[in-house]
Amino acid sequence: MASRLPIQTDFSLRHLNTFGIDAKAHAYVRVDNAQTLVAVNADAELSQLQRLILGGGSNIVLTGDFAGLVLHLCNRGIELVDEDENSRFVRAAAGENWHGFVQWTLERGFGGLENLSLIPGSVGASPIQNIGAYGVEIKERLHSLTAFDFETCEILTLSNADCNFAYRDSIFKHELRDRAVILSVTFALPKHWQPSIRYADVAQELAAQGIDTPTARQVSEAVIAIRTRKLPDPAQIGNAGSFFKNPVVSGEERDALLARFPQMVSFVQPDGSYKLAAGWLIDQCGWKGKALGAAGVYEKQALVLVNRGNAKGQDIVALAEAIREDVRQRFGVLLEAEPIFV
Ligand SMILES: Cc1cc2nc3c(=O)[nH]c(=O)nc-3n(C[C@H](O)[C@H](O)[C@H](O)COP(=O)(O)OP(=O)(O)OC[C@H]3O[C@@H](n4cnc5c(N)ncnc54)[C@H](O)[C@@H]3O)c2cc1C
Repeated sequence: MASRLPIQTDFSLRHLNTFGIDAKAHAYVRVDNAQTLVAVNADAELSQLQRLILGGGSNIVLTGDFAGLVLHLCNRGIELVDEDENSRFVRAAAGENWHGFVQWTLERGFGGLENLSLIPGSVGASPIQNIGAYGVEIKERLHSLTAFDFETCEILTLSNADCNFAYRDSIFKHELRDRAVILSVTFALPKHWQPSIRYADVAQELAAQGIDTPTARQVSEAVIAIRTRKLPDPAQIGNAGSFFKNPVVSGEERDALLARFPQMVSFVQPDGSYKLAAGWLIDQCGWKGKALGAAGVYEKQALVLVNRGNAKGQDIVALAEAIREDVRQRFGVLLEAEPIFV
């Protein structure tokens, strides 16, 4: 490759995806600043390659070798950039580790992101699927972001509203997919902070510790304790967190299902629709703890698919398909995968 950029070819992605899938990229480059992206765009050969924008690799399934160019976001920096009466505005570079960033805010006494503690991955990927956990989504805290647009070769600034956030969704999964590389995200953290402990798990964890007016740090610690108990650590066992989104159905569909399955778990949404617990549906089909080849279903949480050792992307895909089909046949509900298939 003629480029002056430090491009690596036939590059193993095994340690750059939390499933631990051993796939190779035709070409790979670290992105430490926007100049690298400008240079890629200006290069006749590189600019023609298919792109994979990569953060921590915790929400992707590598289904095979990738024939294009991996742009690995590694830029760093966190800064308090502004404040007003209600908020502190903190900007973080896309390549910062998400949990490290949350800890940075808590160390300075800035509440607001504590419910999202211990989510793997990078700051730059947090808007892609509007990450959420324990009753809080990033859309409640994101102020704006900057991104390099491969189509115009310009740096865009997007407001919260521009991002079209929805449940595990944003503009970056649609119009701007593989086109906009998020470079930094600015969060508005509330000065008049209140804990968000609507979630029973968090409330119970705090109650068990005898805490009734928690600090942001204490909420973070409770979330970390719950997550550590429930979810497999990707460093020990390869996984991408929840593999399926919780399906949303109409009130009528939910009532019909409830008549057949009185134990079914569902949560009413502001628009009157219902969110079903995908983990419960999968569990009812008997998948918890089961495996198909080297790909398996985590024994403590049916929503998490795991690499039991040397699984290939296709093993994960086959297992996911088998689960989807069983849930469709039994409940008539279609599960949608949360990670991005590459
Ligand atoms: C154990 C575990 C628990 C998890 N728990 C949760 C949870 O509670 N809630 C939740 O929402 N998610 C959860 N996840 C999923 C995952 O951590 C998040 O989706 C995270 O934001 C992915 O970040 P990443 O940097 O690893 O993204 P990657 O996997 O590298 O990329 C994911 C997608 O984002 C795109 N992308 C990445 N960086 C950029 C960028 N800078 N600009 C543009 N596009 C980009 C990629 O192209 C890809 O399409 C969990 C995952 C694991 C393994």
